[in-house]
Amino acid sequence: MEHIKRLFQNNRRWVAAMTQTDPEFFRKRAVPAEPHFLFIGCSDSRVPADSLTGTTPGEIFVHRNIANQVFTADLNVLSVLQFAVEVLHVGNVIVCGHYGCAGVQAACGTAPLGLVDNWLGNIRNVMRLHRQELEAIADPADRLRRLIDLNVLEQVYNLSQTPVVQKAWQSGATLLLHGLVYQLEDGLLKDLALGIDSPEKAEALAHAAGHAR
Ligand code: ZN
Repeated sequence: MEHIKRLFQNNRRWVAAMTQTDPEFFRKRAVPAEPHFLFIGCSDSRVPADSLTGTTPGEIFVHRNIANQVFTADLNVLSVLQFAVEVLHVGNVIVCGHYGCAGVQAACGTAPLGLVDNWLGNIRNVMRLHRQELEAIADPADRLRRLIDLNVLEQVYNLSQTPVVQKAWQSGATLLLHGLVYQLEDGLLKDLALGIDSPEKAEALAHAAGHAR
C-alpha cells in the first residue's frame, strides 16, 4: 500500500505545481484533445513518451507494448492506429524503440519464457531476416543495439503496410511515419527514419535496412 499511496501524494503535488504555473491547465485539457502524434513505444517503465519528448497531456496519443511491436494482426494496435489517424487526424506516427530493451534481448535467448514467447516471435523473424548482417557484428552489445534499430525499422515498415496507413496515403492525406530509438544512457532520441510518407519511401526504407522484399 505504501507504493500506491506515494503515487497519490505525487499526484497532489503535480496538480499543485501545474496549476501554480497555469491555473487553467486542467480546464484547458478537459476538452477533446487534438494530438499531432501517435507514439508506439515499449512498455518499459524507463521510456515515458511524454517526459522524453517534453510534451504535456493532450499532445501525444500513446500505445505501448513489449518491444514496440506493430503486428498487422494485433487488433489493439490496429484500433489505436485507426482511431488516431481517422478520428484524431494525427499527422505523425512514431515507432520508438530503446536500447537496453529486455523484450528484444529476451527474443535473442533460447530459454522459454512462457506466453510472451509468442509475442517475441516477431522479433525472431526480424533476426532471421537480418541474420547475415547481425552475425557479422562481433560485439554482442553492438549486435543487440543493431537488432533494436532493425526492429524499429521493421515495425515502421509493418505500419506502412496497414490498411489504415495505405488508405490515408491513397486519399492524399499527409501522414508521416517515423522510426526512433531512445538512448537510456543519455536520454537522447536517435532518428533512424523520418518522414516516411509514401509506399515508395516505405519500400526504400526496408531495402536500406538490408531487407530485400
Ligand atoms: Zn523495451
